[in-house]
Amino acid sequence: MAASFVDTARITIIAGHGGHGAVAFHREKYIANGGPDGGDGGKGGSVVFVPDKSMSTLMDFRYKRKYTAENGMDGSSAKKTGRDGKDLVIKVPMGTVVKDAATGEVIQDMTGVERFVAAKGGRGGWGNQHFATPTRQAPRFAKAGLPGESRDVILELKLLADVGLVGFPNVGKSTLLSVVSKAHPKIANYHFTTLMPNLGVVYVDEGVSFVMADIPGIIEGASEGAGLGYDFLRHIDRCRLLVHLVDVSGSEGRDPVEDFDTINAELVQYSPELADRPMIVCGNKTDICYDTENQERLKAHVEELGYTYFDLSAATHGGTRALVEKIAEELASLPPVKVFEATYVPRLPVIDTSKEVSVEVEDHYWFVEAPWLQHLVACTTFSDFESRNWFDKQLRNAGLFDHLEAMGIQDGDTVVMYDLQFEYQR
Ligand code: GDP
Ligand code: MG
Repeated sequence: MAASFVDTARITIIAGHGGHGAVAFHREKYIANGGPDGGDGGKGGSVVFVPDKSMSTLMDFRYKRKYTAENGMDGSSAKKTGRDGKDLVIKVPMGTVVKDAATGEVIQDMTGVERFVAAKGGRGGWGNQHFATPTRQAPRFAKAGLPGESRDVILELKLLADVGLVGFPNVGKSTLLSVVSKAHPKIANYHFTTLMPNLGVVYVDEGVSFVMADIPGIIEGASEGAGLGYDFLRHIDRCRLLVHLVDVSGSEGRDPVEDFDTINAELVQYSPELADRPMIVCGNKTDICYDTENQERLKAHVEELGYTYFDLSAATHGGTRALVEKIAEELASLPPVKVFEATYVPRLPVIDTSKEVSVEVEDHYWFVEAPWLQHLVACTTFSDFESRNWFDKQLRNAGLFDHLEAMGIQDGDTVVMYDLQFEYQR
């Protein structure tokens, strides 16, 4: 199957870990007991997708499956913050849609965006400079950096074309594209000659042009994945207009009305929304039509259904100019190529909060740590109300506040959890 055209890929992206905070003390000649001056860890690099015009397939992702951004550097003495990890920029072809690997939900359509941060780097940990208090002048601890986000995503290429050609194999789709544009798709008199989608720019008039996509022929059962066509239907998902080619010559003993209905049924199966896209129907190979009965039957059938019909002879350029002009005219009033809305609903991780926590108390500062708590803090966006609420609920469910109360925490004491510090209020 279409071995050389890679249009889906599944990859794992891992953002960088935040650097650790440093434990250090100011040292200077003749000055004893310098204060704590351990710097903070740098932020981990994020994983960022960027659309790139020069890429046309997802081939690059076939062998490399794991993409990891740089970690943040640890902090050091003299309040030096560690360097932030570099973002990892992953170039993807225009028209790539990023989906969640587990659910298939759309996370981001890269069409029309310049960059998309798909996994955020972890925050850096605080150095001991933050933990000095009047009574604790030499804090011998700092905080660990937090892990970056990681996720499995599917990249799916959906070509950006205004017009999509559909029809049975061998009806002349590639021929039409080669005649009206400078594209050179393979043309041959056997089914499935087109093993990859082809794009061609059609120049109509000065300043008027459109992009046409020729995809491998749809065959019966394609929408259930039986044939070759199904994989390629995604490439016409965005099209503003469909041009449906039907062989009316009878040269293969086919019935054009039946062919037309079969393809339409396949489109509905695949996507009712796509099947609803405006469509122009062309009866092709009229140059070898020795009997016009087929043409007339098809024309009557499709016009009754409300479609515009054209007689065509792609091979001899008969009717191609009129078709191209009609397409341009239709496109002028149609909405732009479809951009896929995000359907992904972020799910908060399930964190086992039943594991023990370590609590250290010094001078009304309560240092609370546990691996699950670190994960929880890393997953929380404290500037976001809902995220904060979720965080609070997790802590309550874990019984953490009851635990601190039992240990004697007072209102106004300070609770420190990794890079989070807040005043305790009952
Ligand atoms: P596709 O599978 O739909 O892309 O069909 P192709 O463009 O590869 O054409 C299949 C065969 O039909 C080729 O041998 C073409 O030369 C031939 N063909 C395409 N259009 C016409 C036409 O208008 N008239 C005639 N006589 N043959 C055509
Ligand atoms: Mg073809």
